[in-house]
Amino acid sequence: PASALPVAPAAATHCPYCALQCAMTLTPTALPGPSGSVAPEVSVAGREFPTNRGGLCQKGWTSASVLRAADRLTVPLVRGRSGEMEPTTWDAALDLVASRLARIAAESGPQAVAVFGGGGLTNEKAYTLGKFARTVLRTPFIDYNGRFCMASAAAAANRSLGADRGLPFPLSDLGGADAVLLLGSNVAETMPPSVQHLAGARAAGGLVVVDPRRSATARLADDPSTGSGRGAQGVHLQPVPGTDLAVLLGLAHVVLAEGLADAAYLAERTTGFDDVARSVAAWWPERVEAVTGVPVPELRRVARLLAAASPSRGGRGAYVLTGRGVEQSSQGTATVTAAINLALILGLVGRVGSGYGAVTGQGNGQGGREHGQKSDQLPGYRKIDDPAAREHVAAVWGVDPESLPGPGVPAVALLRSLGTPGGPRALLVHGSNLLVSAPDAAAVRARLEALDLLVVCDVVPSETALIADVVLPVTQWAEEEGTMTSLEGRVIRRRKATDAPGDARSELWVWAELARRLGSPVHLATDPAEVFDELARASAGGVADYGGLSHARLDDDEAGGGPGFHWPVPAADHPGTPRLFLDRFPTPDGRARMIPVDHIGPTDDLRPDAPLWLTTGRVLQHYQSGAQTHRVPELERLVPAPYAELHPLLGARLGVPDGARVRLTTARGTTTATARWTDTVRPDTVFLPFHWSGEGSANLLTTDAVDPVSGMPEFKVCAVAVAPAEEA
Ligand code: SF4
Repeated sequence: PASALPVAPAAATHCPYCALQCAMTLTPTALPGPSGSVAPEVSVAGREFPTNRGGLCQKGWTSASVLRAADRLTVPLVRGRSGEMEPTTWDAALDLVASRLARIAAESGPQAVAVFGGGGLTNEKAYTLGKFARTVLRTPFIDYNGRFCMASAAAAANRSLGADRGLPFPLSDLGGADAVLLLGSNVAETMPPSVQHLAGARAAGGLVVVDPRRSATARLADDPSTGSGRGAQGVHLQPVPGTDLAVLLGLAHVVLAEGLADAAYLAERTTGFDDVARSVAAWWPERVEAVTGVPVPELRRVARLLAAASPSRGGRGAYVLTGRGVEQSSQGTATVTAAINLALILGLVGRVGSGYGAVTGQGNGQGGREHGQKSDQLPGYRKIDDPAAREHVAAVWGVDPESLPGPGVPAVALLRSLGTPGGPRALLVHGSNLLVSAPDAAAVRARLEALDLLVVCDVVPSETALIADVVLPVTQWAEEEGTMTSLEGRVIRRRKATDAPGDARSELWVWAELARRLGSPVHLATDPAEVFDELARASAGGVADYGGLSHARLDDDEAGGGPGFHWPVPAADHPGTPRLFLDRFPTPDGRARMIPVDHIGPTDDLRPDAPLWLTTGRVLQHYQSGAQTHRVPELERLVPAPYAELHPLLGARLGVPDGARVRLTTARGTTTATARWTDTVRPDTVFLPFHWSGEGSANLLTTDAVDPVSGMPEFKVCAVAVAPAEEA
């Protein structure tokens, strides 16, 4: 019998998946393995924490399965002469990678090597990866998959508010508000334990969800039988995909036209209001209805509901929140800017109990964009082209500021440049599965396959690892120490509960070994606590200031029941900053900048050969590219294959019955999936979840058109043709 034998103390840590970073306790046990050996195992239990209050979703409960995935990578693999991947030693694999990187850099310059990171890496790894790229490889070409996830919200918040911290307030603050406007975020599936914080707004009838699908979250707003069922709920607005910006302009128009703005707040705390007021004047409700399909009475109702909830009109508070649905757009930065403008017009931002925030997606999407993985950033959320920032960080790194490369290019531009004349010939990928998660995935595959060298560090043979020249097996989540920064800018500890299988090693060790082999004099620490201390010094004085934190302080805090620290934490005795912007905005004049924006529409136009909208998204049971969750039997059983949601009217018109195979074709490619009839999707729209590769892979269809400010791809809307698979 499988007797549970404790092998180490229980570890208080957090979930490996999304940015809610639910607290959990991992209890190591030992279970008999297949041949009588004893395999390390951990059991998972939810832990009390302000964000999840002990709750976990299906992904969190089953997360330990990934530790013992049957195909877990345990030894380095190198592609042999036969074309097959062959196991080898670490020395042989690292010698090979270092020698080929050195040769490529010698032949074509340091910019011939590129690095791609991930929003799931710990803060320590994100920091070291940026340092490794800029001081050891000396390449400007580093970016990460957060560009697919958060870049538009980050760009807009930095531009308008002077700082980007997803939620600049604790998530639990939402509970006291009368209204929450949630745009393009299906939290009921992506982070279910967060839904409890919407209960106050639901009870007040003030939950407003904007989504082209009547998602599980939208049903919380308009179906009293869902959730706790406490009376009034709210409103679901179901616009045409890609028109959220027009909805926001229309809401601002109504607020201003009906005299519901917070004039005193606007005068005291913002600049640029007059320009914004002029820009929204053209978005009268009837025009908004014509563009978006949102009925005029619904638009007016929501504007009044938000205004009534705002403190200036005696309400308990209101929040405006954005998610990927509005950010993954060629006008994503403009859309988030419009959301911030609306929140400013209502006097919400920087007020206790109200505000604007972005619901970050990836586990360390927040920390991952603060420590130097982004093409234009240095640690502390510093700009890489700021001379003072370069000097500060170079001093911490012990290098000449002049030696640091300048800005690189955002992820999609980086991927497009691979293999082009003068572009990168080698790519190192860490914590990212580009063949599934990048837009226009077939083109990405062709570019990766044409590289002179593709190196992938991963825990399992992801689709991207399967085409690599070298695959390096690395530790994950419950096998390592480190820190993460949650969606509310809260720095928390990740703790080790079990050993990694086989010869998997931390990326920190991999980068230090490569640096040594490449003859770099730069010191790359391998102890996560030492890396964090250096990260804290590098970030000190920056917007995302971790200067007063250390692993020891975080451990002491948690041992005393404390729930981590919200940055900035500039000194060892500083308590952290749960709420930003209360007194001033971190802009030169201390005021928020209101920036006029206008609705243009998606890059793709509907046309006779592609007359429908395709939108993509997530399901409860799978996370991102599915590299982890497809290896969890319980989750895979629940949602084993991709499917396409069609409205029954559309299915009947096209002759695609429920359950039949349907072919979807865009300008990028074609794929098939099983049709699923549902009236939760608009009759002009098809929904395809994006967690799969091969047949049914959504990103074979998506466009790599990007937002001009943030570089974020337009995953959420493109023109598609839909037909029965047999006839295509
Ligand atoms: Fe993990 Fe997110 Fe689920 Fe929480 S909501 S258990 S952090 S996947």
